[in-house]
Amino acid sequence: MKNKILVTGGVGYIGSHTCIALHEAGYDIVVYDNLSNSSREAINRVSTLIGQSIKFIEGDVRDAESLKRVFSSHQFFGVIHFAGLKAVGESVAKPLLYYNNNVSGTITLLEVMAEYDVKNLIFSSSATVYGDPETLPINEKSKRSCTNPYGQSKLTVEHILEDLAVSDDSWNLIPLRYFNPVGAHPSGKIGEDPNDIPNNLMPYISQVAVGKLEKLSIFGHDYPTIDGTGVRDFIHVTDLAKGHVAALNYLEKQTSSNESGTTKQNSVGFLPINLGTGKGTSVLELVSAFSDVSKQDIPYQFAERRAGDIASCYASADKAKNLLGWQAKLSITDMCQDTWRWQSINPNGYDIEK
Ligand code: NAD
Ligand code: UDP
Repeated sequence: MKNKILVTGGVGYIGSHTCIALHEAGYDIVVYDNLSNSSREAINRVSTLIGQSIKFIEGDVRDAESLKRVFSSHQFFGVIHFAGLKAVGESVAKPLLYYNNNVSGTITLLEVMAEYDVKNLIFSSSATVYGDPETLPINEKSKRSCTNPYGQSKLTVEHILEDLAVSDDSWNLIPLRYFNPVGAHPSGKIGEDPNDIPNNLMPYISQVAVGKLEKLSIFGHDYPTIDGTGVRDFIHVTDLAKGHVAALNYLEKQTSSNESGTTKQNSVGFLPINLGTGKGTSVLELVSAFSDVSKQDIPYQFAERRAGDIASCYASADKAKNLLGWQAKLSITDMCQDTWRWQSINPNGYDIEK
Protein backbone atom coordinates (compact mmCIF):
# COMPACT_ATOMS: atom_id res chain seq x y z
CA MET A 1 0.00 0.00 0.00
CA LYS A 2 1.30 3.42 -0.95
CA ASN A 3 0.93 6.66 1.01
CA LYS A 4 -2.28 7.73 2.71
CA ILE A 5 -4.06 10.69 1.11
CA LEU A 6 -6.86 12.88 2.43
CA VAL A 7 -9.32 13.72 -0.34
CA THR A 8 -11.55 16.67 0.54
CA GLY A 9 -14.67 16.95 -1.61
CA GLY A 10 -14.01 13.38 -2.73
CA VAL A 11 -17.70 12.52 -3.11
CA GLY A 12 -18.20 15.13 -5.85
CA TYR A 13 -17.90 14.75 -9.59
CA ILE A 14 -14.14 15.04 -10.08
CA GLY A 15 -13.28 13.77 -6.59
CA SER A 16 -15.20 10.49 -7.01
CA HIS A 17 -13.40 9.69 -10.26
CA THR A 18 -10.07 10.62 -8.70
CA CYS A 19 -10.74 8.32 -5.72
CA ILE A 20 -11.01 5.42 -8.16
CA ALA A 21 -7.79 6.42 -9.94
CA LEU A 22 -5.99 6.75 -6.59
CA HIS A 23 -7.25 3.37 -5.45
CA GLU A 24 -6.17 1.77 -8.75
CA ALA A 25 -2.73 3.33 -8.27
CA GLY A 26 -2.50 1.69 -4.82
CA TYR A 27 -3.09 4.70 -2.55
CA ASP A 28 -4.88 4.48 0.75
CA ILE A 29 -7.53 7.20 0.72
CA VAL A 30 -9.72 8.92 3.29
CA VAL A 31 -12.57 11.02 1.89
CA TYR A 32 -13.79 14.10 3.74
CA ASP A 33 -16.90 15.84 2.41
CA ASN A 34 -19.87 17.74 3.85
CA LEU A 35 -22.18 16.35 1.11
CA SER A 36 -23.39 19.89 0.36
CA ASN A 37 -23.24 19.15 -3.37
CA SER A 38 -23.04 15.38 -3.54
CA SER A 39 -24.84 12.22 -2.66
CA ARG A 40 -24.18 9.24 -0.39
CA GLU A 41 -25.13 7.08 -3.34
CA ALA A 42 -21.89 8.21 -5.03
CA ILE A 43 -19.97 6.77 -2.05
CA ASN A 44 -21.81 3.45 -2.43
CA ARG A 45 -21.06 3.34 -6.14
CA VAL A 46 -17.37 4.18 -5.75
CA SER A 47 -17.17 1.46 -3.06
CA THR A 48 -18.74 -1.03 -5.49
CA LEU A 49 -16.33 -0.03 -8.25
CA ILE A 50 -13.23 -0.39 -6.07
CA GLY A 51 -14.51 -3.56 -4.41
CA GLN A 52 -14.23 -2.27 -0.84
CA SER A 53 -15.86 0.30 1.41
CA ILE A 54 -14.41 3.71 0.97
CA LYS A 55 -13.23 5.43 4.18
CA PHE A 56 -15.61 8.36 4.41
CA ILE A 57 -15.88 11.10 7.02
CA GLU A 58 -18.72 13.59 6.83
CA GLY A 59 -17.34 17.00 7.69
CA ASP A 60 -16.74 20.55 6.55
CA VAL A 61 -13.32 21.95 5.65
CA ARG A 62 -14.21 25.09 7.58
CA ASP A 63 -14.53 23.02 10.77
CA ALA A 64 -11.01 23.01 12.24
CA GLU A 65 -11.90 20.74 15.19
CA SER A 66 -13.37 18.11 12.91
CA LEU A 67 -10.30 18.28 10.62
CA LYS A 68 -7.97 17.95 13.62
CA ARG A 69 -9.74 14.76 14.67
CA VAL A 70 -9.13 13.38 11.17
CA PHE A 71 -5.46 14.42 11.12
CA SER A 72 -4.84 12.97 14.56
CA SER A 73 -6.28 9.60 13.54
CA HIS A 74 -4.39 9.27 10.24
CA GLN A 75 -0.85 9.83 9.06
CA PHE A 76 -1.29 11.56 5.71
CA PHE A 77 1.35 12.10 3.07
CA GLY A 78 -0.75 14.88 1.60
CA VAL A 79 -4.13 16.30 0.73
CA ILE A 80 -6.01 16.57 -2.56
CA HIS A 81 -8.38 19.44 -1.99
CA PHE A 82 -11.50 19.37 -4.18
CA ALA A 83 -13.95 20.69 -1.58
CA GLY A 84 -15.50 23.92 -2.76
CA LEU A 85 -18.47 25.49 -4.45
CA LYS A 86 -18.31 25.92 -8.21
CA ALA A 87 -21.34 27.66 -9.71
CA VAL A 88 -20.34 30.98 -11.29
CA GLY A 89 -23.88 32.44 -11.30
CA GLU A 90 -24.51 31.48 -7.67
CA SER A 91 -21.17 33.03 -6.71
CA VAL A 92 -22.32 36.38 -8.13
CA ALA A 93 -25.51 36.16 -6.06
CA LYS A 94 -23.80 34.84 -2.91
CA PRO A 95 -20.18 36.08 -2.86
CA LEU A 96 -19.78 35.71 0.90
CA LEU A 97 -20.80 32.07 0.73
CA TYR A 98 -18.20 31.48 -1.99
CA TYR A 99 -15.36 33.31 -0.25
CA ASN A 100 -16.24 31.65 3.04
CA ASN A 101 -16.42 28.15 1.60
CA ASN A 102 -13.60 28.30 -0.93
CA VAL A 103 -11.15 30.73 0.66
CA SER A 104 -11.78 30.44 4.42
CA GLY A 105 -12.25 26.69 4.03
CA THR A 106 -8.85 26.38 2.37
CA ILE A 107 -7.16 28.57 5.00
CA THR A 108 -8.60 26.40 7.78
CA LEU A 109 -7.41 23.27 5.99
CA LEU A 110 -3.89 24.73 5.52
CA GLU A 111 -3.71 25.72 9.20
CA VAL A 112 -4.59 22.23 10.30
CA MET A 113 -2.14 20.73 7.79
CA ALA A 114 0.60 22.98 9.19
CA GLU A 115 -0.24 21.93 12.74
CA TYR A 116 0.12 18.26 11.80
CA ASP A 117 3.14 18.91 9.58
CA VAL A 118 1.42 17.64 6.43
CA LYS A 119 2.70 20.02 3.77
CA ASN A 120 1.89 18.41 0.44
CA LEU A 121 -1.20 19.75 -1.29
CA ILE A 122 -2.87 19.37 -4.67
CA PHE A 123 -5.52 22.03 -5.13
CA SER A 124 -8.43 22.17 -7.62
CA SER A 125 -7.84 25.40 -9.46
CA SER A 126 -9.38 26.32 -12.77
CA ALA A 127 -8.67 27.79 -16.19
CA THR A 128 -11.06 30.51 -15.07
CA VAL A 129 -8.07 32.15 -13.32
CA TYR A 130 -6.80 33.15 -16.79
CA GLY A 131 -9.89 35.29 -17.50
CA ASP A 132 -9.98 36.37 -21.15
CA PRO A 133 -6.66 35.06 -22.48
CA GLU A 134 -4.41 37.34 -24.52
CA THR A 135 -2.84 34.44 -26.43
CA LEU A 136 -3.70 30.82 -27.12
CA PRO A 137 -2.89 28.16 -26.12
CA ILE A 138 -2.81 29.30 -22.50
CA ASN A 139 0.34 28.39 -20.62
CA GLU A 140 0.94 28.61 -16.89
CA LYS A 141 2.76 31.94 -17.20
CA SER A 142 -0.23 33.63 -18.85
CA LYS A 143 -1.67 36.61 -17.04
CA ARG A 144 -4.32 35.84 -14.44
CA SER A 145 -7.48 37.87 -13.87
CA CYS A 146 -11.03 37.01 -12.88
CA THR A 147 -14.40 38.56 -13.37
CA ASN A 148 -16.64 36.75 -10.90
CA PRO A 149 -16.47 35.73 -7.21
CA TYR A 150 -16.01 32.03 -8.02
CA GLY A 151 -12.96 32.79 -10.16
CA GLN A 152 -11.70 35.29 -7.58
CA SER A 153 -11.98 32.65 -4.87
CA LYS A 154 -9.73 30.31 -6.91
CA LEU A 155 -7.28 33.09 -7.72
CA THR A 156 -7.20 34.22 -4.08
CA VAL A 157 -6.39 30.68 -2.94
CA GLU A 158 -3.60 30.55 -5.55
CA HIS A 159 -2.17 33.81 -4.12
CA ILE A 160 -2.37 32.38 -0.61
CA LEU A 161 -0.54 29.24 -1.73
CA GLU A 162 2.15 31.35 -3.43
CA ASP A 163 2.68 33.41 -0.27
CA LEU A 164 2.80 30.27 1.83
CA ALA A 165 5.45 28.71 -0.41
CA VAL A 166 7.56 31.87 -0.15
CA SER A 167 7.21 31.95 3.63
CA ASP A 168 8.30 28.37 4.20
CA ASP A 169 9.96 26.10 1.64
CA SER A 170 8.76 22.93 3.28
CA TRP A 171 5.37 23.42 1.59
CA ASN A 172 4.78 21.61 -1.70
CA LEU A 173 1.73 23.09 -3.37
CA ILE A 174 0.36 22.16 -6.79
CA PRO A 175 -2.70 23.99 -8.06
CA LEU A 176 -4.03 22.02 -11.00
CA ARG A 177 -5.81 24.35 -13.40
CA TYR A 178 -8.58 22.28 -14.94
CA PHE A 179 -9.95 23.24 -18.33
CA ASN A 180 -13.47 21.85 -19.03
CA PRO A 181 -13.97 18.48 -17.30
CA VAL A 182 -16.68 16.33 -18.90
CA GLY A 183 -17.49 12.64 -19.30
CA ALA A 184 -18.09 9.93 -16.77
CA HIS A 185 -16.63 6.65 -15.55
CA PRO A 186 -16.85 4.06 -18.39
CA SER A 187 -18.93 1.78 -16.12
CA GLY A 188 -21.79 4.32 -16.27
CA LYS A 189 -22.05 4.11 -12.46
CA ILE A 190 -20.68 7.52 -11.55
CA GLY A 191 -20.82 10.84 -13.36
CA GLU A 192 -21.78 14.47 -13.10
CA ASP A 193 -25.08 15.06 -11.31
CA PRO A 194 -25.89 18.76 -11.32
CA ASN A 195 -28.58 20.17 -9.06
CA ASP A 196 -31.42 21.82 -10.94
CA ILE A 197 -30.89 22.94 -14.52
CA PRO A 198 -27.25 22.53 -15.55
CA ASN A 199 -25.18 25.65 -16.20
CA ASN A 200 -22.49 23.80 -18.10
CA LEU A 201 -22.69 22.73 -21.69
CA MET A 202 -22.11 18.95 -21.58
CA PRO A 203 -24.67 18.11 -18.86
CA TYR A 204 -27.15 20.41 -20.60
CA ILE A 205 -26.66 18.61 -23.92
CA SER A 206 -27.00 15.20 -22.29
CA GLN A 207 -30.21 16.20 -20.52
CA VAL A 208 -31.64 17.39 -23.83
CA ALA A 209 -30.59 14.09 -25.43
CA VAL A 210 -32.30 12.05 -22.69
CA GLY A 211 -35.47 14.15 -23.00
CA LYS A 212 -35.30 15.92 -19.63
CA LEU A 213 -34.76 19.32 -21.24
CA GLU A 214 -36.41 20.49 -24.41
CA LYS A 215 -33.78 22.49 -26.22
CA LEU A 216 -30.23 23.75 -25.85
CA SER A 217 -29.61 27.49 -26.04
CA ILE A 218 -26.26 28.20 -27.65
CA PHE A 219 -24.93 31.39 -26.13
CA GLY A 220 -23.49 33.41 -28.99
CA HIS A 221 -22.76 32.50 -32.59
CA ASP A 222 -20.76 35.52 -33.62
CA TYR A 223 -17.51 34.77 -31.82
CA PRO A 224 -14.30 34.85 -33.88
CA THR A 225 -14.09 31.05 -33.89
CA ILE A 226 -14.37 28.27 -36.45
CA ASP A 227 -18.18 28.39 -36.53
CA GLY A 228 -18.99 31.45 -34.41
CA THR A 229 -19.70 29.48 -31.22
CA GLY A 230 -17.48 29.35 -28.12
CA VAL A 231 -14.43 27.08 -28.13
CA ARG A 232 -13.30 25.17 -25.03
CA ASP A 233 -10.76 22.52 -24.08
CA PHE A 234 -12.97 19.62 -22.95
CA ILE A 235 -11.12 16.99 -20.96
CA HIS A 236 -12.39 13.56 -19.93
CA VAL A 237 -12.82 13.35 -16.16
CA THR A 238 -10.94 10.03 -15.99
CA ASP A 239 -7.94 11.62 -17.75
CA LEU A 240 -8.21 14.50 -15.28
CA ALA A 241 -8.33 12.01 -12.39
CA LYS A 242 -5.11 10.41 -13.65
CA GLY A 243 -3.54 13.87 -13.78
CA HIS A 244 -3.97 14.02 -9.98
CA VAL A 245 -2.22 10.69 -9.56
CA ALA A 246 0.62 11.96 -11.75
CA ALA A 247 0.89 15.15 -9.67
CA LEU A 248 0.96 13.08 -6.49
CA ASN A 249 3.70 10.82 -7.89
CA TYR A 250 5.66 13.95 -8.74
CA LEU A 251 5.27 15.32 -5.20
CA GLU A 252 6.43 12.01 -3.76
CA LYS A 253 9.47 11.88 -6.01
CA GLN A 254 10.46 15.47 -5.36
CA THR A 255 10.04 15.31 -1.63
CA SER A 256 12.08 12.17 -1.08
CA SER A 257 14.65 11.82 -3.81
CA ASN A 258 17.46 9.61 -2.72
CA GLU A 259 20.87 10.98 -3.60
CA SER A 260 23.83 8.66 -2.89
CA GLY A 261 22.19 7.05 0.07
CA THR A 262 21.02 10.24 1.75
CA THR A 263 17.49 11.50 1.45
CA LYS A 264 17.39 14.96 -0.01
CA GLN A 265 14.23 17.03 0.19
CA ASN A 266 13.52 19.12 -2.89
CA SER A 267 11.02 21.85 -2.30
CA VAL A 268 8.30 21.99 -4.94
CA GLY A 269 7.06 25.34 -3.66
CA PHE A 270 4.13 26.70 -5.64
CA LEU A 271 3.80 24.84 -8.93
CA PRO A 272 0.71 25.56 -11.04
CA ILE A 273 -0.03 23.06 -13.81
CA ASN A 274 -2.70 23.10 -16.54
CA LEU A 275 -4.75 19.97 -17.03
CA GLY A 276 -6.25 20.15 -20.49
CA THR A 277 -5.96 18.34 -23.81
CA GLY A 278 -4.49 21.28 -25.74
CA LYS A 279 -7.33 21.04 -28.27
CA GLY A 280 -10.26 23.38 -28.70
CA THR A 281 -13.76 22.17 -29.62
CA SER A 282 -16.64 24.48 -30.45
CA VAL A 283 -20.10 24.27 -28.93
CA LEU A 284 -21.55 23.20 -32.30
CA GLU A 285 -18.85 20.56 -32.75
CA LEU A 286 -19.66 19.11 -29.33
CA VAL A 287 -23.40 19.09 -30.06
CA SER A 288 -22.76 17.26 -33.33
CA ALA A 289 -20.42 14.70 -31.70
CA PHE A 290 -22.95 14.02 -28.94
CA SER A 291 -25.77 13.62 -31.40
CA ASP A 292 -23.71 11.11 -33.46
CA VAL A 293 -22.80 9.05 -30.41
CA SER A 294 -26.23 9.05 -28.76
CA LYS A 295 -28.17 8.81 -32.02
CA GLN A 296 -30.47 11.46 -30.57
CA ASP A 297 -31.53 14.71 -32.06
CA ILE A 298 -30.27 17.66 -29.98
CA PRO A 299 -32.57 20.58 -30.77
CA TYR A 300 -30.92 23.94 -30.24
CA GLN A 301 -31.47 27.64 -30.76
CA PHE A 302 -29.00 30.49 -30.90
CA ALA A 303 -29.24 32.94 -28.04
CA GLU A 304 -27.41 36.04 -26.83
CA ARG A 305 -23.85 35.68 -25.61
CA ARG A 306 -23.72 34.78 -21.91
CA ALA A 307 -22.33 37.59 -19.76
CA GLY A 308 -18.71 37.00 -18.81
CA ASP A 309 -18.10 34.31 -21.46
CA ILE A 310 -14.97 34.36 -23.56
CA ALA A 311 -14.61 33.27 -27.20
CA SER A 312 -11.90 30.62 -26.92
CA CYS A 313 -9.97 28.87 -24.22
CA TYR A 314 -7.59 25.94 -24.56
CA ALA A 315 -4.52 24.83 -22.73
CA SER A 316 -0.92 24.40 -23.45
CA ALA A 317 -0.55 20.96 -21.87
CA ASP A 318 3.25 20.87 -22.21
CA LYS A 319 4.11 21.47 -18.57
CA ALA A 320 2.00 18.53 -17.41
CA LYS A 321 3.62 16.34 -20.06
CA ASN A 322 7.18 17.42 -19.35
CA LEU A 323 7.02 17.50 -15.55
CA LEU A 324 4.41 14.90 -14.69
CA GLY A 325 4.66 12.64 -17.74
CA TRP A 326 0.88 13.00 -18.04
CA GLN A 327 -1.16 13.56 -21.16
CA ALA A 328 -4.89 13.39 -21.79
CA LYS A 329 -5.66 10.37 -23.95
CA LEU A 330 -9.42 10.28 -24.49
CA SER A 331 -11.22 11.90 -27.43
CA ILE A 332 -14.35 14.00 -27.73
CA THR A 333 -16.14 10.82 -28.91
CA ASP A 334 -15.06 9.01 -25.71
CA MET A 335 -16.28 11.97 -23.64
CA CYS A 336 -19.68 11.93 -25.36
CA GLN A 337 -19.99 8.12 -25.19
CA ASP A 338 -19.26 7.96 -21.48
CA THR A 339 -21.49 10.94 -20.68
CA TRP A 340 -24.31 9.35 -22.66
CA ARG A 341 -23.89 5.97 -20.93
CA TRP A 342 -24.05 7.64 -17.49
CA GLN A 343 -26.98 9.89 -18.46
CA SER A 344 -29.06 7.18 -20.11
CA ILE A 345 -28.55 4.63 -17.31
CA ASN A 346 -29.15 7.31 -14.63
CA PRO A 347 -31.61 9.84 -16.06
CA ASN A 348 -32.06 11.26 -12.55
CA GLY A 349 -28.43 11.08 -11.57
CA TYR A 350 -27.87 9.57 -8.12
CA ASP A 351 -31.46 10.19 -7.10
CA ILE A 352 -32.55 6.56 -7.24
CA GLU A 353 -35.82 7.38 -5.44
CA LYS A 354 -37.19 9.46 -8.35
P1 NAD B 1 -18.59 18.98 -6.97
O1 NAD B 1 -19.50 20.01 -6.43
O2 NAD B 1 -19.17 17.82 -7.67
O3 NAD B 1 -17.62 18.45 -5.81
C1 NAD B 1 -17.20 19.25 -4.74
C2 NAD B 1 -17.41 18.46 -3.47
O4 NAD B 1 -16.99 19.26 -2.36
C3 NAD B 1 -18.88 18.10 -3.23
O5 NAD B 1 -18.96 16.72 -2.92
C4 NAD B 1 -19.28 18.95 -2.03
O6 NAD B 1 -20.24 18.31 -1.21
C5 NAD B 1 -17.96 19.14 -1.32
N1 NAD B 1 -17.85 20.38 -0.52
C6 NAD B 1 -18.18 21.63 -0.88
N2 NAD B 1 -17.92 22.48 0.12
C7 NAD B 1 -17.39 21.76 1.13
C8 NAD B 1 -16.93 22.06 2.43
N3 NAD B 1 -16.96 23.30 2.90
N4 NAD B 1 -16.45 21.06 3.20
C9 NAD B 1 -16.42 19.78 2.74
N5 NAD B 1 -16.86 19.44 1.53
C10 NAD B 1 -17.35 20.40 0.74
O7 NAD B 1 -17.55 19.74 -7.93
P2 NAD B 1 -16.47 19.16 -8.93
O8 NAD B 1 -16.93 19.46 -10.30
O9 NAD B 1 -16.12 17.76 -8.56
O10 NAD B 1 -15.26 20.13 -8.63
C11 NAD B 1 -14.26 19.80 -7.68
C12 NAD B 1 -13.34 21.00 -7.52
O11 NAD B 1 -12.79 21.35 -8.80
C13 NAD B 1 -14.04 22.25 -7.01
O12 NAD B 1 -13.16 22.93 -6.13
C14 NAD B 1 -14.26 23.07 -8.27
O13 NAD B 1 -14.31 24.44 -8.01
C15 NAD B 1 -13.02 22.70 -9.08
N6 NAD B 1 -13.21 22.85 -10.53
C16 NAD B 1 -14.27 22.24 -11.14
C17 NAD B 1 -14.46 22.39 -12.50
C18 NAD B 1 -15.64 21.76 -13.20
O14 NAD B 1 -15.96 22.18 -14.31
N7 NAD B 1 -16.29 20.76 -12.63
C19 NAD B 1 -13.55 23.15 -13.25
C20 NAD B 1 -12.47 23.74 -12.60
C21 NAD B 1 -12.31 23.58 -11.22
N1 UDP C 1 -22.88 27.09 -23.44
C1 UDP C 1 -24.00 27.19 -24.23
N2 UDP C 1 -25.19 26.79 -23.71
C2 UDP C 1 -25.31 26.30 -22.43
C3 UDP C 1 -24.14 26.21 -21.64
C4 UDP C 1 -22.95 26.62 -22.18
O1 UDP C 1 -23.93 27.63 -25.38
O2 UDP C 1 -26.43 25.97 -22.02
C5 UDP C 1 -21.57 27.50 -24.01
C6 UDP C 1 -20.90 28.64 -23.27
O3 UDP C 1 -21.37 29.88 -23.75
C7 UDP C 1 -19.42 28.38 -23.57
C8 UDP C 1 -19.34 26.85 -23.67
O4 UDP C 1 -20.69 26.41 -23.91
O5 UDP C 1 -19.07 28.93 -24.82
C9 UDP C 1 -18.83 26.17 -22.39
O6 UDP C 1 -19.61 26.61 -21.29
P1 UDP C 1 -19.52 25.92 -19.85
O7 UDP C 1 -20.45 26.67 -18.94
O8 UDP C 1 -19.73 24.46 -19.99
O9 UDP C 1 -18.00 26.14 -19.44
P2 UDP C 1 -17.16 27.48 -19.19
O10 UDP C 1 -17.96 28.64 -19.65
O11 UDP C 1 -16.91 27.49 -17.74
O12 UDP C 1 -15.92 27.30 -20.00
